[in-house]
Parts: sequence; structure tokens; C-alpha cells
Amino acid sequence: MFQQEEYDVIVVGAGHAGCEAAAAAANMGSKVLLVTMNMNTIAQMSCNPAMGGVAKGQIVREVDALGGQSGIITDKTMIQFRMLNRSKGPAMWSPRAQSDRMRFAEEWRLTLEQTPNVDFWQEAVTGLVVENDTVVGVKTQLGIEFRGKSVVLTNGTFLNGLIHIGEKQFGGGRAAESKSTGITEQLKELGFEAGRMKTGTPPRVDGRSLDYSKMEEQSGDAEPSKFSYLDTPTLAKQRPCYITYTNPEVHEILKEGFEKSPMFQGRIKGLGPRYCPSVEDKINRFADKDRHQIFVEPEGWSTVEVYVNGFSSSLPEDVQYRALRKIAGFENSKMFRPGYAIEYDFFPPTQLHLTLETKRIKNLYFAGQINGTTGYEEAACQGLMAGINAHNRVHGKEPFILKRSEAYIGVLIDDLVNKGTDEPYRMFTSRAEHRILLRQDNADLRLTPLGHSLGLASDERMERVREKQEQTAEIVKLLKNFGIEPAEINGWLEEIGSATIHEKTRAVNLLRRPNVELPDLTRALPALTLALGQYRPDALEQAVILVKYEAYLEKEHQQAARVQELEDFTIRGRLDYRAMPALSHEAREKLLKIQPETLGQASRISGVSPADVSVLMVYLGR
Ligand code: FAD
Repeated sequence: MFQQEEYDVIVVGAGHAGCEAAAAAANMGSKVLLVTMNMNTIAQMSCNPAMGGVAKGQIVREVDALGGQSGIITDKTMIQFRMLNRSKGPAMWSPRAQSDRMRFAEEWRLTLEQTPNVDFWQEAVTGLVVENDTVVGVKTQLGIEFRGKSVVLTNGTFLNGLIHIGEKQFGGGRAAESKSTGITEQLKELGFEAGRMKTGTPPRVDGRSLDYSKMEEQSGDAEPSKFSYLDTPTLAKQRPCYITYTNPEVHEILKEGFEKSPMFQGRIKGLGPRYCPSVEDKINRFADKDRHQIFVEPEGWSTVEVYVNGFSSSLPEDVQYRALRKIAGFENSKMFRPGYAIEYDFFPPTQLHLTLETKRIKNLYFAGQINGTTGYEEAACQGLMAGINAHNRVHGKEPFILKRSEAYIGVLIDDLVNKGTDEPYRMFTSRAEHRILLRQDNADLRLTPLGHSLGLASDERMERVREKQEQTAEIVKLLKNFGIEPAEINGWLEEIGSATIHEKTRAVNLLRRPNVELPDLTRALPALTLALGQYRPDALEQAVILVKYEAYLEKEHQQAARVQELEDFTIRGRLDYRAMPALSHEAREKLLKIQPETLGQASRISGVSPADVSVLMVYLGR
């Protein structure tokens, strides 16, 4: 055996999924080997230099609350922070950071190097070592065999990756990086089904060649927040982004390249992300629109490179260049790197258990883009869950599965395993039926106790959660009891155009009014300011959300509890779907393929109708 005895967990690939998987398993006490093709591209952001955003920001908060690293690393390396959707209800608030691409990768590598129990090996893995339908190690290009009790595959866009720029195409996992071969072929031989997907990225340009005076500035929040619930830094200064637009002239030039477009000419076979289209796709599909928004995003503190968000393209590089130069502010722009599209293999995730272990090969886990998802956040959370479950498996512990009502992470994995995906899957708030409960402000309350009992979230995290819980409860009580006389408040209520009160009321009743926020109320009522002065800002925020939305939250908790009844009903191994003639043909096929654990899981499989669920319930004697 080379270099080391048997590892507990071997992680293949050091992208966003692989890094979280390695860190989680190692922090829980596993001996981990992280094998990656290129140690200089650990945690490389392949596309946009940003973390978070709508629904994705909630995921990063959840990863952090469980004891993952992505939130901490984002906080340490961001150049701008914005809380998106502040004007909407708190379920929609979504943290988003503009990252320093190079610093982000550097910080991840540093974090892993400082994590005891993580060994590194730079090389391409070309196959798995499988004995008796159980993975026992990996093989590399040099022919080295590393033995491991479990393996987590996180190959990203690298499996038989094919890069397209106009009519040119070449193998690669990402620009300037090799593709990975061998793994798909072996997995297919082992009986796995594989598919093909595609994604794309825009050109990067020289910031010194741009005229920002022709663009709108987009600054970060005046009081920037952050991702981690730990004591990470907030930004003292920020870099602005800019907004500009395409125009008909840009569109005309891009159209000249259509005949060389790998997408329009059918050379790209894989399905791409519908909600993240290339610029050529946008002008083709929305022909009536004469402009599309472009976000001009700096790539870091100390680089002039700029990311042209909204201009993803696989048209020939000269077409990209000429079209770019017709955009306001880009007239003299110089391109550093062209945009490109990439096709890669993925494995339909219906082949996985909810732990992300494959159904076919024991102790083998898949996480990230290999499962048909797209996005750093989606990858990171799967890596975390695969790392936790691989660790638990080899140490004889229980599987760790999050419910749909507990976390976006639970929604994501449940969707993947039960519904599969035929286009790159990204998270949206609309995918989470209990999104009112799954807010970015309470991920710590929801998940840190779970992460702590796993041995992943630190005592410090747990202590902070306990304190937040206690303070929140105290503040809620205080707001429910704090009396306000009409004379104290009516002047201010008139000022803001809110109905005056005629008798003494409680603070909570005013806070429930949509146009009354706590800072306003405390400004009008010095006694309330005094009473609340001792509490943490996050506890104050939590308490206000709880009282303002009490009725909605109550209803949602009841709904989740009702759904949970089906979730608690274990059916795996109890039913013979072949012997149920009343099931539809499609439902039988899907149930046999997916082998759901619970009645709840069965009810969410696409192709299993409510009528089929009723059939299952009859057989279960319910
Ligand atoms: P990756 O980040 O791809 O990491 C995979 C890692 O595995 C790499 O370190 C690689 O070196 C290593 N590796 C692969 N094979 C082997 C092997 N055989 N042996 C050893 N190491 C191996 N996401 C969005 O949300 N929006 C977008 O618009 C978007 N556009 C994209 C455009 C492009 C061109 C690319 C490449 C990606 C894009 N993404 C986009 C996707 C985003 O980059 C991924 O979702 C995310 O990085 C996936 O993380 P991952 O950990 O699964 O894989």
C-alpha cells in the first residue's frame, strides 16, 4: 500500500463538494485522503465569483450551522455583501457575497491543511476498487491504489468534460484543466446509468479597459452582514459592482456567430440550466427584448480581472469580443479569457439513498455536480452530507438525513433522490414547501443542535445557539407584556400614517403592523429601548420575526407535523410492488427503482400519484 494504511474516507475531487466532505469527515474524526487532480485549484470557483443569493444563501447558512466551512471561508474572503430581498418577508431574505476568487480558494486550502486527519494526493483517479459490491479504494493514473473504507466521488464538471468555443471543441474539466476519464466507464460497467449535461461561463475582461462612468454602480449593504454564525469578520470596506446592458447592436453581432454556435448547430447534446441561459440563448428566445442586464463583477481585492455576469457564451471568441465592445462602458475592453460551454457526465441521482450513498455499490457516495446539480452552494451542502454519512457509516453510526421541513439541504437531496433531474438542478425558494420555516436567520436554531450531536458543530456554536434561544424567548415575553399608552405613541403613529390607538396596548400588537419595525418603535419609546438594550441583535431580529409572523409560523409548523406522519411511516422492505395490480405501471416502475424509505418519500416520487399512495396505504392497512 502506498504512503498510508487504510483510510476511513477517500474523497475524490477538491471542489466545493469535495472540500466540505473532507473537512466534515476529518473534523468528526475520520482519517481522510483528499485526492484531487490539481492542488493549485482546490475550491476553485469555476464560474461566478460569488456565494449565496436567493435560496443558495440559505444553504450556506445551513452548511455553517451544521459545522461546515463554506460560510466561514466566504466571510473571510468576500469583497461585498448584500442581503437580497430585504423588502420582502424574512423567508425571502437571502445573503449574497461577492467573493475574492483567489482568496476564497487559498483560504479553503489553508483550512484543509490545518485540519488534522486530512492527507492530500495530487493525481487523477481513474477507477474504483470494488469488492463484493462494496467500494474499498481508488486507483490513480499512476497505477497507485489507495485503500479506503468509503469513497466520496465529487468530480464536478470533469467526467469526460468537453469544452466548446464556437466550432472548436476539446477535452477538459474546466478551462486549462484536464478532463477525467475512466470513472464513468467503470461505473457504467457496474450497472450505473449515466447522462450528459452542459453549462457555460462568460468571458473575463481587464477592468482597466472599462469605462465605469457609463454604468450604474451597485454597492454593497451599508451595514454588511455575513454568513457564519461564528465570530467571523464583517466587511469594513467593500468593492462595488456595476450594471450595464446589451443593446440591438450587440445582439446583431452575436447573431452573426449563430452558425458557428455549438448549441444551435447541435454539437452540444447535454441539457443546460434553463434559468441561467447563455447570452445567445437569451437573444434567441426573447427576440422582442432589445436589451439584457449585465452585472460587472470584480474578481477580487487585488486583481483587475472582471467577471461579465449575464454574458455567458460559447460563440467563437472573436464574436464574443466584438459584441462585448458594443456594450456601454466596454467600448475599449480587453478580454482575458473567452466564455465557453462545457458538457460533462453526471449520474441520475435516483440511484442514491438519501444519505447520498449509491444503491448499487456500498460505501460509495456521490456529491455535487456529479449528481446533476449546479452551483457551489448546492455542491457544498451535498459534500457536507456525504462526508458526514461516510464517516457515520464507517464508524457504525446512524445515517444523517435532513427532513424537507428542517432544511433546504433536506429539500435538495429529497428532490434529487425522488424526482431525479434531467437539467442542472439549482435551488429556488419555491422548491421548499416549508420555506417560511427555513429562513436564513434561524438555520442555527434548526441545525446546530443536530450538527453538535453529530460531533461536528463545536461547543462554541452550541453555546451561542443556547444563548440566542434564551434571549429570544425573553424578548418575545417582554414584547408581549410591554404596555404602551395612547399618549406615548399616537403622535408617532400619525406621523407614519398608521392608525392611532384608543386604549393601552402591548408592543407586540404594534409590531404586527406591516409598517412598524422594531427600530422605529424603540426610537419612539425610550423605555422600550432601555428594556431591550442588553440583548444580542440576532436574538432581537429572531424575536421580532416570531411575533410578527406568529400566526403563519404556527400554521406552517402544524402543516409540517401533518406531513411528518407520512414521513414516519417506514415502508422499505414491507411492500411487494409487483403484487399490487392497482398501482399504475409508472408508479410500480418508479417505486421498484427508487425503493423509498417512507410513505412520505413515496408520495413525492414523480409518477407516483395520490391514487397510487392510497393503494399503498390500503396494503399497509391504513
Ligand atoms: P467542481 O467544483 O467542478 O470540482 C471538481 C473537483 O474534482 C476539481 O477539483 C477537479 O480537479 C477534481 N476532479 C475531477 N475529477 C477528478 C479525478 N478523476 N481525480 C481527481 N480529482 C478529480 N454554477 C452555477 O451555479 N451557475 C453557473 O452559471 C455555472 N456555470 C458554470 C460554468 C462552467 C464552465 C463550469 C465549469 C461550472 C459552472 N457552474 C455554474 C458550476 C459550478 O462550478 C459547480 O456547480 C460547482 O463548482 C460544483 O462543485 P463540485 O464540487 O461538484 O465540482
